[in-house]
Amino acid sequence: MLNIGCHLSISKGFYQAGLEAVSIGANTFQFFTRNPRGGKAKEIDPEDINKLKDLMEKNNFAPLFAHASYTMNLCSDKKHIRNFSKMLLEDDLKRVEQIPNCYYIFHPGLHVGQGTKKGLELIIDALNEVIKEENQVTILLEGMSGKGSEIGGKIEELKTIIDGVQYNQKLGICIDTCHMYSSGLDIVNDLEGVLEHIDKVVGLDKVKAVHLNDSKTPLGSNNDRHETIGEGLIGLEALVKVITHPVLRNLPFNLETPNDVQGYKKEIQLLREKFKTYLQD
Ligand code: FE
Ligand code: FE
Ligand code: ZN
Repeated sequence: MLNIGCHLSISKGFYQAGLEAVSIGANTFQFFTRNPRGGKAKEIDPEDINKLKDLMEKNNFAPLFAHASYTMNLCSDKKHIRNFSKMLLEDDLKRVEQIPNCYYIFHPGLHVGQGTKKGLELIIDALNEVIKEENQVTILLEGMSGKGSEIGGKIEELKTIIDGVQYNQKLGICIDTCHMYSSGLDIVNDLEGVLEHIDKVVGLDKVKAVHLNDSKTPLGSNNDRHETIGEGLIGLEALVKVITHPVLRNLPFNLETPNDVQGYKKEIQLLREKFKTYLQD
């Protein structure tokens, strides 16, 4: 079975988000741990979480994705921002631990002119400060498009971070089809080659989750503009190859396409149908 969902709001609570996911045919969803632009997080209600847990079990849910706020930048050139980001990370990890079967995903960071090497060092230092042996959550570094001073536009950079972290058995990778494509990994014409590259650099066993998006911008453009499934330069056929590929098809996929909930529902239906027919052929 295809494990697929989309980004949803948890403003009405986790259980409501779970119900919404089920209503659109999803068996996972992604949410922001806190306002993506701000910092404040809502208290977690244990009763709400119990209801979610029950719903997830009854509906065969795959792992959920908790996405960090965009304000978190572990490699900022400003110390107060780095400290604030470490605080957010520490608090997020405690919160995500209370949510059943949930990955924590974050963008490695922006080096803002300090250079990739310095950026990587700061991220590694921050992760070593925050991640403790007792942390339960699997933390996923998202592969980025390499826009501006973004760290993580190359798989090698994610590998450097993983290698630098002491408790790195808690670390994995979330690939994003839009980001891969715009970073220059040609998943349209050479998915096998891209997967071989990822395997050679970090190992495919590190890939735990996928953001499924089409792309408004071309291969290697180092731009980050998501498009709805089938409407972009990656196209439906290539995305179906991603979801049905033997090394990827059991992973959880979440859509981050420019859509409302009804739009997501249509994309999920379409992808489930394509998945079924592909595997029958
Ligand atoms: Fe992301
Ligand atoms: Fe993403
Ligand atoms: Zn993106």
